[in-house]
This record gives sequence, structure tokens and C-alpha cells, in this order.
Amino acid sequence: ASQRIPNHSHLLFLFAVSSGGFVTYADAKSENDHKLPQASTKKKIVVLGTGWAGTSFLKNLNTYLYDVQVVSPRNYFTFTPLLPSVTCGMVEARSIVEPIRRIICKKKGKVTFWDAECLKIDPFNKKIYCNPCAGSNVEGGGEFIVDYDYLVIAVGARVNTFNIPGVLEHCHFLKEIEDARDIRKNVMHCFERASLPNLNDEERQKDLHFVVIGGGPTGVEFAAQLHDFITEDLAGLYPQVKHLVKISLVEAGEHILTMFDKRITEFAEKKFRRDGIEVKTGFQVVNVSDKTITMTSKSSGEASVPYGMAVWSTGIATHPVILNLMKQIGQAERRVLAVDEWLRVCGCEDVYALGDCATTIQRKVMEDISAIFKMADKDNSGILTLKEIQDVLKEIYLRYPQVELYMKTKHMTDVVDLVKEAKGEAAKVSAELSIEEFKKALANVDSQVKTLPATAQVAAQQGYYLAQCFNKMKETEDRPEGPIRIRESGRHRFKPFRYKHFAQFAPLGGEQTAAQLPGDWISIGHSTQWLWYSVYASKQVSWRSRMLVIMDWLKRFVYGRDSSCI
Ligand code: FAD
Repeated sequence: ASQRIPNHSHLLFLFAVSSGGFVTYADAKSENDHKLPQASTKKKIVVLGTGWAGTSFLKNLNTYLYDVQVVSPRNYFTFTPLLPSVTCGMVEARSIVEPIRRIICKKKGKVTFWDAECLKIDPFNKKIYCNPCAGSNVEGGGEFIVDYDYLVIAVGARVNTFNIPGVLEHCHFLKEIEDARDIRKNVMHCFERASLPNLNDEERQKDLHFVVIGGGPTGVEFAAQLHDFITEDLAGLYPQVKHLVKISLVEAGEHILTMFDKRITEFAEKKFRRDGIEVKTGFQVVNVSDKTITMTSKSSGEASVPYGMAVWSTGIATHPVILNLMKQIGQAERRVLAVDEWLRVCGCEDVYALGDCATTIQRKVMEDISAIFKMADKDNSGILTLKEIQDVLKEIYLRYPQVELYMKTKHMTDVVDLVKEAKGEAAKVSAELSIEEFKKALANVDSQVKTLPATAQVAAQQGYYLAQCFNKMKETEDRPEGPIRIRESGRHRFKPFRYKHFAQFAPLGGEQTAAQLPGDWISIGHSTQWLWYSVYASKQVSWRSRMLVIMDWLKRFVYGRDSSCI
């Protein structure tokens, strides 16, 4: 299972050949076309996407070793965790984006950026088909082909509407910087509309009903930010309508923030209720029209509520270009593109995928359990004591951080929960577990944890990991046997990707944030909000955006948020 590298050397020639409406782009045109083409022995890496995964890969890659081409319909990187702050004027849109060319110009060697969307990937001929974003005056629309030696796919995901009628037409999404700007404008339009004469209170109420669908971290943060914006800034500017404002947070599950610890979920639900945000758990949206949102729940059946603005934030789906690739490589049955632990796309060569567009098929936890069990069972009795079970779990968490995340999601914070799950609620909690019982307890966990969460943390770590592998590729070509033997038979040139889980934040408004820190640490309150400020300031990709974001926060403290409709 070693990394495969094409052994043909690749010469780059400057030529453009028309082929079926597409132009084959072996390389960029030189400014001196009359010069003889220069041969390059460097391998060509094509990177699709300028989001968390693509940018992290690019920043950490030794671009001196490769010819790198970046293709993306966005010529900037967006710091997505601050998108909810843009919706309500906490920070300005331009402060959280970094032009990709500023990153490229600091790199050594040859890095080219194409402002285009990849329409199709042909993994068998190692080509991608692209459509320029800014349009083109070339006949046929200017589509072009880029060929590659290695392809790094980091195109992220698109919004998942679950095909619910009306969502696409009537709801706002919160995925891109344009979405955040639109939401900000529309909040203001709702207030201005509600302030017009000739409206009755019922019509005003409708305009000022803000519905957030999806109780995940994004939906929750947006609801919190909107509440702060309204109470701290807009209530003073629109005193005649402030009592008519309503924010509803709709979640199909039993709780909001289910990926967080139970204590955070409970705190958030209580705080929102205190703040007057209506938390509607157990409600499923089934239709959205221009005037009403229809939802059903087990307890109260179907109901339609009028609304002024709806924000849809319920999850992600796969891009069409990836679905097409999956069909070609025998992954048509899957929902998300599968990669192995080295981030190689399963079913084709020299193609890697990272971030939200792919899911790592992790080695099954169960395969490891027996080995870990034997390690912990020091007296070889075949039975683990509670203390030994705790040791086993520690080892599993170390190898599979996603197991820990899953246990927390299910609010199984203690080993006792695991024993109960294996033996039934009535069992004595001090019970010991045999390997069969232990396996049974973990079987359910195992089937759930093979995927990593779709977060910026995962995407950025994968980008860094893959760049390091590419940086060492030459070294490993010279020593193909590799120094490290990893678990199964055969030798790998690189260690597999391992995700390290750091803090996870949930800003809840009123200068309060909840944080789930490594281990079982929970921190909630005003001091955590300052931790949030410092972490997000430090995580900015450049000093420029760091300064802009800090200045925006200071500006808001002094002057409040801007309420103009621009
Ligand atoms: P993206 O960052 O989405 O980048 C995808 C890139 O691919 C973009 O540049 C796009 O233009 C490009 N692209 C798309 N289609 C094509 C194509 N056909 N051809 C070429 N290029 C293409 N995660 C956290 O860890 N913490 C948070 O606090 C957090 N907050 C979030 C808040 C919001 C509002 C949102 C929307 C997400 C948040 N996330 C957070 C999740 C995080 O943003 C994503 O997991 C992360 O962006 C995934 O990175 P990515 O590189 O896979 O995709």
C-alpha cells in the first residue's frame, strides 16, 4: 500500500490545442512566446479550492519542488468561523477574507492561480475540465483543460436542502461571504419594512419574525448574534417596533448543539429561553413558501408560521463535480467521496481529497479492540475491571478522537454509561466486562465513528498533513522501504493522517461563549468569550486580517454595529 508515483517524467510545453470546445492548457503562456519552451522535470500538482483545506495545503507545501496550479471560483480564502459575525456587523466582510494571490506571491517556485470552476475530473487521463468564472471572450465560453500529475481536491461541500420544497427559493444560507452580506442587508430591510406606515401589527410581526432552521453551531451562533444585534443596537433605533421582534430556532432533533457536551447543550437552551429566543426542538420543516414555513412535530402535528426572514443551516451535501467523479471510480453508491487514511481517493491513482468534500475510511475501531483489550487485561482473566475499562477507553480515545466525540454527542461522558449500554440499565454499575460484552458495547460506537466531523480544524490539519507528505516525497522515493512500519503488513512511506481535536466553541451571545476543551473540560461564560476572541484573532491567516478583525471588534465596542442597508 505504498504511495504510487507515476514514473514517467513530465515535460511542460507551451501550447494550446483546441479540443472539442476545450483548450488544453499544458502550462500558462509565457510573456516571451518566441523563446524555446523550457522543459521542466517538476511534477504538476493541481489544487482544487481555496478554502481551509486547499489554503492550508498551499501554505505548507514546498512549492519549489513542484509546479503548482490552483483552480477555484473564489480568488480568496474565507475565515468561515467569523461568517456569523459578518451577518450582524460585528466584523466587516473584507476583514475575514484573504486574497489568494497574496498567499501565492509569497511562495517560492511556480504557483499559478486560475479563477475558474472545475466542471469535471477525468482521473484516468489525469485531466480536469474548467470553466472560467469571469466569463471569456473566447468562442465556446473559454472552457479549458488542465492536466496534472497529482490532483488535490479540496472543493468543500454545498448546502443540503434535503430537497424540501421552497428552501432554495426562499431561505438564506450561511456558507459564503455573499450569504453573510445578504443576511445583513435583509435583516435591515425587515426592520425598515416593518417601520413603514399603513401596516398593522400582525404584518409587522410577520416581517420581524426571524426563523433559523438548524440547531447546530452555525445556526445557534447566528441566532445569538442576531439577538445581540437587535437588543444592543436596533431596539434603540426602531423603538416603535422592537416589542414585535421574534427569533425562532427550529431543530429536528431533541436538543440543539448535540455535537457538544450535555452541559453546554443545557446551558445554551436555558440561556436562549431566558433571552426570549424560541427554541423549537423536535420540529421538522417540510415546506417553505414566500410567506410561511410549514413544520411538523410528533406532539403538535403540522403547523405553518408566517416569517420575515429564514436562514437555513442544516448540514452539507456533495458537489456535483465530486458525484460525477464518484460514478467514474465505482463509488456511486456512497454519499461522500471515500479516501483512505493517507487521504488518497479510493479507486484512482494520484488523486487526494481533503476537507468537507471527502470522508476518511478509518480503520475499524473493532479491529483494534481485541489488541487493546489484551493489553489492558494484565492478569489474562478475560475480564476487565472498571479501572481497566477506563484505561482501554483512554487508549481508544488516543487512537480515535472521533470515538470520544461520538460518546460526548450521545452524552455518554463516563465509562459507566458504556457498562450500562452493554449490560442494560439494571446492571450494577460496578460490573466488570468480558471481551464479548465490551465488544458489544463498542459495536454501535464503531459503526458511527468512521467519519471525521466536517470542520475547519479537520480540513486545515489534513491540508498540513498532505503538504508535509508531498514535501518529503523525494526523500521517500530515494528510500522506498521507509523507516516506519505501521500496524498492518507492508510498509508505508508516510504515517497515516491522525486528527487532533482541539477546542470547539459555541458563542451564545451576551458576551458569553461555551467551549469544549480537550479532555473533559468545559468552560462557559464571559471569560470563555475572551478566550474565543484571542483564539480567533490568533488563527487569522495573515497579520492584515488579524489587525482588521481586532479593529472591527474595537469599533463595535465603541460605536456599536452599523445598521445601514448596504
Ligand atoms: P471550503 O472552506 O468550503 O472551501 C472549498 C473551496 O473550494 C472554496 O474555495 C470553493 O470556492 C472551492 N470550490 C468549490 N467548488 C469548486 C469547483 N468545482 N472547482 C474548484 N474549486 C471549487 N469549522 C470549525 O472548525 N470551526 C468553526 O467555528 C466553524 N464555523 C463555521 C461557520 C460557518 C458559517 C460555516 C459555513 C462553516 C463553519 N465551519 C467551522 C466549518 C468549516 O468552515 C468547514 O468545515 C471548512 O470550510 C471546510 O474546508 P474545505 O476546504 O473543505 O471547504
